[in-house]
Amino acid sequence: MFEDLSGKSALVTGASGGLGLHFATVLARHGVAVTLAARRQSALEAAGKVIAAAGGTAHSLALDVADSASIANALGDRPFDILINNAGISGAGRAADLSEAEWDAVLDTNLKGVFLVAQAVARGMRESGKGGAIVNIASILGHRVAGGVSAYAASKAGVIQLTKALALEWARDGLRVNALCPGYIETDINRDFFATEAGQQLVKRIPQRRLGRPEELDGALLLLASAAGSYITGATIEVDGGHLVSSL
Ligand code: NAP
Repeated sequence: MFEDLSGKSALVTGASGGLGLHFATVLARHGVAVTLAARRQSALEAAGKVIAAAGGTAHSLALDVADSASIANALGDRPFDILINNAGISGAGRAADLSEAEWDAVLDTNLKGVFLVAQAVARGMRESGKGGAIVNIASILGHRVAGGVSAYAASKAGVIQLTKALALEWARDGLRVNALCPGYIETDINRDFFATEAGQQLVKRIPQRRLGRPEELDGALLLLASAAGSYITGATIEVDGGHLVSSL
């Protein structure tokens, strides 16, 4: 079903670990040549070796998604067919105590970063004449709120709205822009929290009563990245064990 992915190229941001590395691995398994991007070069190189050892093709690029000069230096004029805009930070903290620097870090990484990388990669997609698929990794916290995540929730709501705005503007160039909204999937970003009593209480409020596994995002990722989703743009797909429909 996803055979058209073979021979394509993809940039995956935040691919030095967590979901980004998982997404890159899944795409590589489907024959996509993946470029792994994040700030930690050594972690990227280790991730690339794991993908190569499994028979995939992986390159790595050190970049900071919050810095347009860093993106331009790293990407140059490399063209990509697919962008997985995944880099993100959590920045938890009560709104009353949140510093301006903490707010800026979350918004710069999660929202400005998504915009800057999309803008840079879309240029090449447009010039290639082949179009492309952009998948922005948002979150169910872009739809609903929880305590202690005001900056994160605002950034992810921004990603959802940005996704729709870019889909509208870039459809005529053959670009599709969609958002994937995961629920709670255990990774480094939240592992400490889910080890606490509050984390365990949260899991009890998920209708399926468990955290998601990274591989449970694969269907939505492949749909949005491949020709199977050729008429899908400006959409958000939630993969959350029913968390968004939990009882009020
Ligand atoms: P993670 O394990 O902490 O990974 C985050 C990745 O982003 C790392 O590779 C990190 O690499 C990279 N990154 C952070 N800041 C960056 C920057 N300025 N420039 C470039 N790369 C940067 O988190 P995760 O759970 O995999 O999350 C991945 C995405 O999924 C995030 O957007 C997150 O908001 C979203 N999400 C996660 C969940 C979940 O339950 N896990 C749920 C909903 C949404 P470096 O440190 O090497 O730069």
